[in-house]
Formats: sequence, structure tokens, C-alpha cells
Amino acid sequence: MPKIYFIDVTNRDGVQTANLGLSKLEKTIINIYLNEMGIFQSEFGFPTTRHESTYLQANLELAAMGVLQPIRLSGWLRAIVSDVETAFRFVPDIRHLNLSISTSPQMISHKFYGEKKREDIVEMMIDAVEAAKALGTESIGVNAEDASRTDMDFLIEFALAAKEHGAQRFRYCDTLGYDDPFTIYETVKTLAENVGIPIEVHCHGDLGMAVANSVAGAKGAIDGGQDAYINTTLNGMGERAGNADLVATILAVTKSKGFAGRYRLGKRINLKKAWKISKFASYAFGVPVPINQPGVGANAFAHSSGIHADGVLKDPENYELYDLAELGRGKLEFVETGREICFGEYSGISGFRHIMGKMAITFEDSAKAREILELVRYANVEAQKPLIEDELLFIAAYPQIAKKLLTLSPLE
Ligand SMILES: [Zn+2]
Repeated sequence: MPKIYFIDVTNRDGVQTANLGLSKLEKTIINIYLNEMGIFQSEFGFPTTRHESTYLQANLELAAMGVLQPIRLSGWLRAIVSDVETAFRFVPDIRHLNLSISTSPQMISHKFYGEKKREDIVEMMIDAVEAAKALGTESIGVNAEDASRTDMDFLIEFALAAKEHGAQRFRYCDTLGYDDPFTIYETVKTLAENVGIPIEVHCHGDLGMAVANSVAGAKGAIDGGQDAYINTTLNGMGERAGNADLVATILAVTKSKGFAGRYRLGKRINLKKAWKISKFASYAFGVPVPINQPGVGANAFAHSSGIHADGVLKDPENYELYDLAELGRGKLEFVETGREICFGEYSGISGFRHIMGKMAITFEDSAKAREILELVRYANVEAQKPLIEDELLFIAAYPQIAKKLLTLSPLE
């Protein structure tokens, strides 16, 4: 039976969220946490964007060092030959790509100013896939942007062409959040049956159905005989109303009535990391987790009304569908209520040694301490908020990689 995999796109779609963003160090920490969680793939950024290139290359080095293993790091770009060439010029070690092009009549007519026809779209995609293969790409996903507003015959033709030219996956993008669980199930199942290629579902929440559509789409792929790859983001961050939330989607495909015990994950997920990763994404984006967020919201395991509180005290399963410990919750967290020495871009060696000492980090000599201090200062310039412990530990453990993450050389 085909299986379900997760491709998290926080570092690509999540950072496209208007008015918000992540530092390169924050993106790196997210990749590390996704890897710890057992996520199959992180769409880690934009290889054709200049300011991403040192970050992307540094994360590929972490993969080569075994730090970011076994997670797959994939870049996103337009399905255009020149973009593929630029990607390999900026990030020579990139090996996994998703190539995206619009397929709906709306976008073909109104993004390309009427200059392109369907045949041109297929041809551009094929040329891009061939270029990516020639430059050494190991796996390619082909994305149909606005697939939910594209007619079925053309989607099949497009996906078949992608498969014939060596794409490993087809990404069905419900770019505008237009699908509902019933339509996406039927469409994805038909695609899986007629094209015979593993299918990614990429869903947005404009109608409040991103998670539901992802689950229904995945079921469509599997019932159609193909593996399903669900695109998610942390805390559902993403364009407009956002994407399918990673934790909620994992809960949905492992705990829901029709899925639990019936559909299988391709990789074991360590859900215990859910609390940590959601909290970090919230801090890094500067966006609070809603109180009623599935699994990780403040109220997800809170009970006050008489009947519920009584019931949950007798047996949590009376009113809780899953155990809070499964999500890494329930541990006491330390909050400083007294004097605080914090670190910023203008901080000095004494405060730095104090903070690192609290985490039992010592340095071989003062030169080493000053080197790490300088990197931490630069990281603060980029983040403009205090770094969390894992960021400080990362810089101390991998100073050469941190230096690359913090290197921006505009207009060289
Ligand atoms: Zn999207």
C-alpha cells in the first residue's frame, strides 16, 4: 500500500508570508528541528535568490557533515531553463528541486500576457526538467501552479509529460485554496490513476480547509495507487490565509477516524518535537500560536467546565483525543523572573561568557570565545531579537557554518 510523506515548505512558502520573515539562522534551526522530527523533506529556500545562496550552500554542507541527515533539502524555482542554470551557479551542490509553472487558463492568459499557450507551458517545463537533470539533479518535483483551476485533461497531459521526462513527483497546487475535500480527493485520485506518479498536495487555507484538503488529497493519491507527499508549514504560516499546519496535518493522518491504523506513514514521525518546533516558529516569525491551535495551542488540553473537568480527571480519554506527552508537552519550563543578562548586537565578552556558561559552554581560549561572540553579535544584527539556546549552541558548535549563514555580500 502506498504511503504518506511530509514535505515542509516553511522555509519557502512560509517565508513568503507578507510582512514577516526569518533570518538565515532561524531557517537553519527549522531545518534541524524538521530533521529531528523525521520529516522527509524541507523545501529550504530559493536557489535563484542571491541572498539565499550562502545559507543554502551552508545547509547542504551540514547535510554532507551528517548534521542534516536524513532529511532531504530541496530548492524551489520556476520551471524555466535560465532559473535552473542560475540555481546551479549560485548553489552548485543542490540536488533536489521543485520546478513550478502555472497551468490554469487564468494564469496562462493573465500572467504571460496571452503570449503562451498550453503547449508552450508543457515545453517550458520539459526543457527545465531536462536542464535540471543535465546539471545533476537527483530528484525533481514538477509543480502545477493553480492546478485546482486547471482542467483535468490538461493536468494529466502536463503530469504525464513531467513523468516521461524523469520527474519523480507531481505537485498538485491548490494555490488559491479553491478545492474542498471532495473535489481534491476525486481530482488527485484521477491523476494518480491516469498518470501513475507520486503526488504532492499543496493546499492553502483561503476557505479554511488547508488541513482537510491535504488529508483528502493524500487519500486520493493513495487510493489511486500512489504515494502521497503532503506540503505543510509550521503553524500554518504562508501566503494570505496560510498553508496546512504541519502538526495538525500529522495529527489528522495519524489520529482521525478514517486514517488511524489504515493509512501508513513512509517515515516515522517524532511528534514529541511538535511543541518545540511550533514554539520556535512562533518566536522566529513573531506570530503567537492561536490559543485553540490543534495539539500545540494553550487550550488544546485545558478544561474548565464542570462536566469536562470531571470527565478528564476520571480518564483523560473522556475528553482528549490524544495524549499531551505525545506532542512533547507537559514538561515544566523555566522562566526568569529575576535579574537577566541578555545578549544583543552591542553586547560584550563578559555578558556573553555568563550566558554561555549557564548552558555549560566553555571555550578553549579567549580568542575562541571572542570569535563566537562576534558571530553571535552578527546573528543578532540579522534576527533583531535575543537568540534562543539552540541558536547559541549551534553557533558555538559550527562557527564556520554560522559564518556562512551570516554572510551577505550584496551587489558583488
Ligand atoms: Zn503555496
